[in-house]
Amino acid sequence: MTRIIQGVFGFQKKAFLEKEDLFQKLGKGQSPLALFITCSDSRINPNLLTQTEPGELFILRNAGNLIPPASTGPCGEEATVEYALVQLGIKDIFVCGHSKCGAIQGLVTQALGKESHGGPMPAVENWLKFAGPNHDIIKEKAAELGPDKLLTFAIEQNVLKQVIHLQTYPAVQNALGKNQLRIHPWVYRIDTGDVTAEDYERKEFLPLDKARRQKWAEQAHSQETVHHLTDVYI
Ligand SMILES: [Zn+2]
Repeated sequence: MTRIIQGVFGFQKKAFLEKEDLFQKLGKGQSPLALFITCSDSRINPNLLTQTEPGELFILRNAGNLIPPASTGPCGEEATVEYALVQLGIKDIFVCGHSKCGAIQGLVTQALGKESHGGPMPAVENWLKFAGPNHDIIKEKAAELGPDKLLTFAIEQNVLKQVIHLQTYPAVQNALGKNQLRIHPWVYRIDTGDVTAEDYERKEFLPLDKARRQKWAEQAHSQETVHHLTDVYI
């Protein structure tokens, strides 16, 4: 606790002063470059990973980087996405899963009918109903892949499921319809710093410098024009 409070004093005495002009400007408003959706996991620092400054990423985090599909009830994730697109005019959404994700490990454990080690977590178990892939697919892949590859597979498939869920939101549909939104499925590997992205054409996760991204999400449905509409990340 003391460490956290001391950290604030340190920030005020040093880090804040070094970027005082930036913070003064940000005091008047924000104009972030992208919406970055990722897990609450303490090992992920989106600004560090993307080398961005305060004010440059609008960040949505929860256990497992999950996006519940549109429903009639209030939903923090949907509200955050809507605000990002409608109010802030954001045109890029990153959905970034990560290696050794505890939430997705929980999903795998659930699917394989094993006990979790940390005691009962009914809220987590309930929340994982929005995660993917479904239990049958996990069970089917378990023998073929082995534990490590199975978890990686589930982490990637979960990201893709959340991309589908995002597209149930009216604000996302509207932005896609106007050709004003790209959605980027990513996975970050904590111990190496590697990032993979789903290659738009090959439909598999490849290193960021190899993966072709969709230029505009709306056109992802048009097979004939794929070659003209994909770009590599670098
Ligand atoms: Zn996680």
